[in-house]
Amino acid sequence: MSALLSTHGLVAGYGDMRALHGIDFEIAAGETVALIGANGAGKSTLLRSILGLLPVAKEMVRLDGTEVGGTPPHRMVRKGVAIVPEGRRLFSGMTVEENLRVAAENAAEPRGEGWSIRRVYDLFPILREKRAAFSEDLSGGQQQMVSIGRALLAQPRLLLCDEISLGLAPRVVREIYAALPEISRSGTAIVVVEQDVGLAQRASSRLYCLLEGRVTLEGRSAEVPREAISAAYFGAK
Ligand code: ATP
Repeated sequence: MSALLSTHGLVAGYGDMRALHGIDFEIAAGETVALIGANGAGKSTLLRSILGLLPVAKEMVRLDGTEVGGTPPHRMVRKGVAIVPEGRRLFSGMTVEENLRVAAENAAEPRGEGWSIRRVYDLFPILREKRAAFSEDLSGGQQQMVSIGRALLAQPRLLLCDEISLGLAPRVVREIYAALPEISRSGTAIVVVEQDVGLAQRASSRLYCLLEGRVTLEGRSAEVPREAISAAYFGAK
C-alpha cells in the first residue's frame, strides 16, 4: 500500500503532558480507516497532530511521502486534509447556505469533479430544504451534515471525522454514515474516530485501536475478532 498520509513514531501532548507515545499510522488514497479507543485514548489528539493543530516534528507526519509534521492547519487544508471537528462548530447567526458558502470561498481549487454546494445538497437533501435556516435552529444531525459539508468544500483528499455520531439518534447516525461511501467513491480517504466499535468496524476497511496514547491493535475491520478488540480497547488484564 502506498500511503496518502502516514505518521511515524508520532509523539504529541499538551504542555508537559504527553498524550501520544509513538504512533505509526497510515491511510491510502480512497481508504476508510477507523480509530477506536476509550475516552482519553488519544484519538482526537492524533487527528489534531495530523492537521498541525499541535506541535509535532516534521518527520512524524508524511503526506504523499513528503514530511509535513507541524505544518500549520490552514496549509494542511490547502494540501488536502480537512477535519469535521468534534462539536460541529458552525457559525451561528448564519444560515446553512452561508455556512457552506464561507467554506466554499476559502477552499482550494477543486480537484477533478470537486465538491460544490449543490453536490453537498445532493448528498444531504434535507440541507437543501433547510438552506435558509439558521444553523442554531437545526437538529443535531442536520448540524453535523453542515459540518461535513463544510469540510468537503475544502476539497479534501483526506477527511478526518471526529466522533460524528456523538449525541445523535441511531436513525440519524445511520443516515450520516450512509454518506461516507459516497464521499469515499469520489476518491477521498476518510479517518473516522468513533466510540461505537460495531459502527466503526462496519464503516471502515481497516481499524486502529488506541489505548493511553499507543496503538494496541491494527487490522482489517472485517477480520479482527471481537475478543482482540476488547483486549486492545481495555488493555489485556
Ligand atoms: P475522547 O473520546 O474523550 O475525545 P480521545 O481518545 O479523543 O478521547 P484525546 O481527547 O485525544 O482522547 O485525549 C488524550 C489525552 O490528552 C487525555 O489524557 C486528555 O485528558 C488529554 N487532553 C486532551 N485535550 C487536552 C487539552 N486541550 N489540554 C490538556 N490535555 C488534553
